[in-house]
Amino acid sequence: MGKILEVRDLHVCFDTFSGEVHAVRGVDFYLEEGETLAIVGESGSGKSVMTKCIMRLLPTPLSRIPKGEILYKGKNVIKLKEKEMQTVRGSEISMIFQDPMTSLNPTMTIGKQITEGLMKHQNLSKKETKMRAIQLLTLVGLPNPEKRVNQYPHQFSGGMRQRVVIAMAIACNPKILIADEPTTALDVTIQSQILELMKDLQVKMHTSIIIITHDLGVVANVADRVAVMYAGIIIETGTVDEIFYRSNHPYTWGLLTSMPTLQTKSTRLVAIPGTPPDLISPPKGCPFASRCQYVMEVCINHMPDYSNLTDTHLVACWLLDDRAPRIEQPFIARGGTGDG
Ligand code: SF4
Repeated sequence: MGKILEVRDLHVCFDTFSGEVHAVRGVDFYLEEGETLAIVGESGSGKSVMTKCIMRLLPTPLSRIPKGEILYKGKNVIKLKEKEMQTVRGSEISMIFQDPMTSLNPTMTIGKQITEGLMKHQNLSKKETKMRAIQLLTLVGLPNPEKRVNQYPHQFSGGMRQRVVIAMAIACNPKILIADEPTTALDVTIQSQILELMKDLQVKMHTSIIIITHDLGVVANVADRVAVMYAGIIIETGTVDEIFYRSNHPYTWGLLTSMPTLQTKSTRLVAIPGTPPDLISPPKGCPFASRCQYVMEVCINHMPDYSNLTDTHLVACWLLDDRAPRIEQPFIARGGTGDG
């Protein structure tokens, strides 16, 4: 497996009336061919901004990329001209958006919406594109595709609409599929069907997937590796086992602890106290310092470097410094199941 995508020292800012928001603040990660990388974090952690940046879908001139590289097939996507980017977007890198109702056009038939991308990127006749649309709807498990292809989004249930959105995203056999909270708007049964579908399609099409989610249950179900984002920074990254059984960052511990389990007896869910920092004037030191129960003086003024615990497991926390006091990982970070 080689790296299909590499993001290096990426910074993204937005101009707002209140000032410049530093939404992404020096992010490095890679995506291997055929793997699924989950990016997790609370709302506002910068995960969606970062992936929209890969697709070059951020609004200009409101957003700026002052620094960084996004390398796809050796080319820096940030430097591509819009015309060059149009050949990449949809056919090489494609995206499944969060809410299938708002990402579909209510005035166009499903078939037309699926074939739009195909007609743009592939030299197919009208008849061939319609056949391909039917094939795609069959592939994503939509019953009666010959009839469904001529229907409008309001004639579909939420789960079916998400299947249509996936069909649109995979229409041109993209090398990379970015799924932004693909199951948030769906109930749990449909959610698990959609995740199964994505896993199945990945095997069939050899696609590499980036999935953005705040749901660790989704991560455990589909991901090979995980990057945990907080306040525009990746604070811990590792394989699924490293994050679920050997995590080393207090924020990751907080996320794991707040995950409900079958053994959860209390009616109240556990939350991480406090709120993320204001990214108009981000903190000098560790961004989690104001919420961290292990905070030390050094954390306030100095951002910790990454400690490489293994080739795949990186953590940015002063607790891993030799001079820091030894603390015991919470039970949940060692694979425990909460209060069961
Ligand atoms: Fe907590 Fe300090 Fe580690 Fe930040 S660097 S997570 S404040 S211990």
